[in-house]
Amino acid sequence: MKAEIITIGDELLIGQVIDTNSAWMGEELNKIGIKINRITSISDDRDEIISTLKEASKRAHLVLITGGLGPTNDDITKKTLADFFKVNMRFDEKAFEDVVHLFSIRGREVSAINRFQAEVPENCTTLYNKVGTAPGMWFDEADVVYVSLPGVPYEMKYLMENEVIPRVKQRFKTPFIVHSTVLTFGIGESFLAEKIAAFENALPDSIKLAYLPSAGSVRLRLSGSGNDEQEVNDLVRHLTNQLSEIIPEYIYGYEKDELPKVVGNLLKLKGLSLATAESCSGGFMAHLITSIPGSSAYYMGSSVTYSNESKTQLLNIPASLIEKYGAVSEPVVLAMVESAKKLFKVDCAIATTGVAGPGGGTPEKPVGTVWVGVSTPDETKAYLLKLGDNRLRTIEVAALSGLNLLRKALLKK
Ligand code: ATP
Repeated sequence: MKAEIITIGDELLIGQVIDTNSAWMGEELNKIGIKINRITSISDDRDEIISTLKEASKRAHLVLITGGLGPTNDDITKKTLADFFKVNMRFDEKAFEDVVHLFSIRGREVSAINRFQAEVPENCTTLYNKVGTAPGMWFDEADVVYVSLPGVPYEMKYLMENEVIPRVKQRFKTPFIVHSTVLTFGIGESFLAEKIAAFENALPDSIKLAYLPSAGSVRLRLSGSGNDEQEVNDLVRHLTNQLSEIIPEYIYGYEKDELPKVVGNLLKLKGLSLATAESCSGGFMAHLITSIPGSSAYYMGSSVTYSNESKTQLLNIPASLIEKYGAVSEPVVLAMVESAKKLFKVDCAIATTGVAGPGGGTPEKPVGTVWVGVSTPDETKAYLLKLGDNRLRTIEVAALSGLNLLRKALLKK
């Protein structure tokens, strides 16, 4: 069973509107076992719409279309669909009643142009729209189902939830699909692939593994499909456990877990408090920590000491130490983390100092060199990271690495 989405609208092609409709539709259809094979965005152009429909009908059993159903001249989807199926339009009384009702509760007169909203190609089943004036349309022609929906996201969602999903479930025998996501940090995609190669090679055909990398982390998504819900669930759960046993040191969570939240929960669980001293991460770590609601329960604050002077004045780092080893060094990051602990009177602290670039690198300390200091009630340690030459990525990964290193230190006991 193959499905495609076609989003229609010039605004999508000139970057004025981002196509969020297909992302939402893809997610919802996936929940009922329908995998989208292709998403196409096209302009409000008759020939473009017809040729895209023709191509899609050769590949897919279900073609979902959004956009271009309004009453204005630029909304040509409905008329083009009638041409595509070589049928006339019919006036749908019930759809018109919906339009009249919607206008009456908004205290507005129905104009001639709004009457046109109730016209649909004669071969469609009308999908009545209670939240807007453009009805959706369902066509079942030559073994392909075409669904045309308004572009306005909340109208599209209303029709998908109330009309399309129930009909699709009835019309197609869909497999059951389940996803499980394992969240890793601190290991690159290719190294991860090497570590789990044996596991990946032994996966059954019904299971797919996807690597989804982002700054410092890789999400591993296992997707299983089959007709027996219990069987698919059990298999995916079993494989998730197996994967977790192969790479436990890199896993910080599952599904939609967030690293700052995971760390916050650990601190709360252990009754520990936290502060940060940030140089190269410039307060980004504080931002990540405070993005989590309730973080004031454990987070006391940060000292953003970007210059050598502020490191000396605010954190009491001896100028001689900075002069001897440089601001980006193990002794300085250790002094920073210890000082943050004292200054904020906390149990744990994280400090960063590094060369975010693009300037400031030396052969000995190239751009991307970052020292992270982590201190818990049990130990204080410094870690050297080499993060490359993308400034914003370095800031983000330095901050996330600090949190991940604290997480690992807290789990040691
Ligand atoms: P209506 O009849 O209610 O006007 P319509 O089918 O004519 O609906 P469009 O005119 O194509 O819809 O789009 C209306 C608005 O909906 C757009 O201006 C845009 O803001 C939003 N929209 C359209 N398509 C998408 C999409 N794929 N993703 C997100 N938003 C969209």
